[in-house]
Amino acid sequence: MNRKNSQKMFQQANKLIPGGVNSPVRACKSVGCDPVFIKKAAGARLWDVDGNEYLDFIGSWGPMILGHNPPEVIAAIKEAMENGTSFGAPTPLEIDLAQLVVDAVPSVEKVRFVSSGTEATMSAIRLARGYTGRKVIVKFNGGYHGHADSFLVKAGSGVVTLGIPGSPGVPDDIVKNTLSIPYNNEEKLEETLRNPELDIACVIIEPIAGNMGVVLPKPGFLQKLRNLTTELGIILIFDEVITGFRASLGGAQAKFNITPDLTCLGKIIGGGLPVGAYGGKKEIMSQIAPEGPVYQAGTLSGNPLAMAAGQATIKALMQPGFYEELDARAAWFARELGNIAEKHLPGRTCINLAGSVLTLFFSKGPVYDFDSAMTSDTKMYGRYYREMLAAGLYLAPAQFEGMFFSSAHRREDLQLALDKTESVFRILSA
Ligand SMILES: *Cc1c(COP(=O)(O)O)cnc(C)c1O
Repeated sequence: MNRKNSQKMFQQANKLIPGGVNSPVRACKSVGCDPVFIKKAAGARLWDVDGNEYLDFIGSWGPMILGHNPPEVIAAIKEAMENGTSFGAPTPLEIDLAQLVVDAVPSVEKVRFVSSGTEATMSAIRLARGYTGRKVIVKFNGGYHGHADSFLVKAGSGVVTLGIPGSPGVPDDIVKNTLSIPYNNEEKLEETLRNPELDIACVIIEPIAGNMGVVLPKPGFLQKLRNLTTELGIILIFDEVITGFRASLGGAQAKFNITPDLTCLGKIIGGGLPVGAYGGKKEIMSQIAPEGPVYQAGTLSGNPLAMAAGQATIKALMQPGFYEELDARAAWFARELGNIAEKHLPGRTCINLAGSVLTLFFSKGPVYDFDSAMTSDTKMYGRYYREMLAAGLYLAPAQFEGMFFSSAHRREDLQLALDKTESVFRILSA
């Protein structure tokens, strides 16, 4: 596979943009190669600037649940665009999307739109602190909640891939108010939340972790978290930036029937345009300016193109059977992938599947938290990644991410992907 144009562009980009990329996870350092520059996409496929075709399993890191360029979303964006791209004033599109979100997501009675997931989580913890008058936030090791200062403590995604504990530039004064504890550990959770010396405002959690690779909550863990936070008056924030409109129409909270106080959304609700949102109980959301004193604002918030794309996407997801079909196809793929991995590298992989996102860990044991994820053979993942890319399968260039399925991934596409994966595993086991 010739990637000459990509290589040339990466050199150019490196001179102009730090690391040649506008988000660290796009760099392929940890898998030992250079990023591919993309020219266009359609359905489940991407084409790079050298004309190579790939089956895409990143889906822009989650948003493209309908695949690339779904006609109804493109039409909605075009229609909105004809009327102007930004007004800095309220529009009817915001009401429509807000209504869809409130109807779909159990915890959300009022919602504020922002332009990224980071803005959503950052604003949600400010709100939780403003509402409770407390300081400390609790997160989980390997949880990623965007790149705001308070979250860069034992964070997942690009932070763990780069192997850095936090980030220079974040004052100790800020991170001393962030506590990070192990995922899926009820004892540690209870001990921390009940500690009378801690002035805990909120707990923020990915109800299905996606940024240390996919890790499911153990049965009972989220319920325990809900019970404790309710009892202690701590705000529970579900970061559903990945799981919102992915785990189900109502997100992971609907799937597990656990209602947080606040919910952060992103990725899918923008239908491929830059959007985030946070919402929750009226009583708490009313503290946001201008209704209340907690300040949060945005020039492009509620952007009409993004609102139109989000709306068209959510309406497509409301079609009966959408999730059943998508999840069934992903489950079939996961089983077949597991068979291939077990046949060629017995006892050396673990697959975690949550609906239509999965991670193939090159780990010998089960992965249920950050430490167990860290036992993965990342060198092997790097080899796997490079071989898969050469075979035309576009995966996350890091072990601790997910493989995203969309409704555009037809069974034939997935069978093709499995056939190619089997030949890659033959190489890996040789
Ligand atoms: C992607 C992500 C974010 C950050 O969203 P951005 O739009 O990249 O700022 C926050 N939380 C989770 C769980 C995410 O996966």
